[in-house]
Amino acid sequence: GLSVGIVGLPNVGKSTLFNAITQSAKAQAANYPFCTIEPNVGVVAVPDERLYQIAKMEKSKKVTPTFIEFVDIAGLVRNASKGEGLGNQFLAHIREVDAIAMVLRCFENPDIVHVEGSVDPIRDAQIIDLELIAKDLETVSKRIEKVEKPAKLGDKKAKEELEKLLRLKEILENLEPIRKHTELPEDLLEYTKKTLFLLTTKPVLYVANVDEEGLSGNAYVKQVIDYAQKEKAPALVICAKLEAELVELPEEEKLQMLNAYGLDEPGLNKLVRESYALLDLITFFTAGEKETRAWTIKKGTKAPQAGGKIHSDFERGFIAAEVINYEDYIKVGSMSKAKELGLVRLEGKDYQVKDGDIIYFRFNV
Ligand code: GDP
Repeated sequence: GLSVGIVGLPNVGKSTLFNAITQSAKAQAANYPFCTIEPNVGVVAVPDERLYQIAKMEKSKKVTPTFIEFVDIAGLVRNASKGEGLGNQFLAHIREVDAIAMVLRCFENPDIVHVEGSVDPIRDAQIIDLELIAKDLETVSKRIEKVEKPAKLGDKKAKEELEKLLRLKEILENLEPIRKHTELPEDLLEYTKKTLFLLTTKPVLYVANVDEEGLSGNAYVKQVIDYAQKEKAPALVICAKLEAELVELPEEEKLQMLNAYGLDEPGLNKLVRESYALLDLITFFTAGEKETRAWTIKKGTKAPQAGGKIHSDFERGFIAAEVINYEDYIKVGSMSKAKELGLVRLEGKDYQVKDGDIIYFRFNV
């Protein structure tokens, strides 16, 4: 599955947030259709009102949401890349996630020590980036050592690769994460992601962790939002402590508590949705009396490959997809009615699935 790593300095609220995630995951465990969950992984249903609307209309016996994984990555401190603290074990875990949620402490509390001695979310973000950059520099330098010799001997491929590597090295030596360099050519970016697996190419979501009063904003939050905007990254405000309390409450009390803080939904929902968007993901649905279910795909996925998410036969034996978008569906309120009205389109193998499509796959076995 697609996963988001929760990263941050000690005592910023990572575990609190992660516990809220796993608590909410436990509540949904019955629904989780996949294999066992590891202790540092929390799997959360992607909140999507459309799924429940469709299920209601189709009188589905079963409703299955789609899920996203959060991985708790502990151990980041200043100089972790040089072996401080728990060493750089955790960096290997960051390599395995698709995106990073960077938790930044935006609350004061003299009882909760800050490892750097004061609350300063931007400094914290920079410390984290420096550690990721240091690790990437190590990766790039090792690779340079490998290709340098054949490049000198005239190997064309090695020469090309060395050029790429030197360009990356320059950026990293300027202490800049690769992700900020959106001007880099597509093939170079691909190379950083799919060959080198650099840490600083992963998309980042900034999470400003506040106390209850901070939910309506504070000076630290403002700094984080400005900082995120500069690199066109998403940022969100969350009170991890409140989230941890919310997940323990029954639905009705949860709403009351949210209201009391002037919130319209749990911050976890926002975290999930923002992560989803960050990874460029969209949802399509399959609907019926037996089950209505949400499926996650990358934006741009074509119909056969979308079908392949459900069953390999759907991809291998793809004939066509019967498609209606949720927006059109909800106007008529049932699949059979939509068909009668000719609103269900027949799409071929080149059709790019859209967010909110409800699809019935026709296939050969
Ligand atoms: P971690 O080291 O980043 O995992 O931090 P923890 O989640 O263990 O949090 C450190 C301390 O900060 C704990 O005592 C938490 O109760 C407290 N804390 C975490 N999130 C919040 C928050 O949103 N507001 C306040 N006031 N305290 C928090």
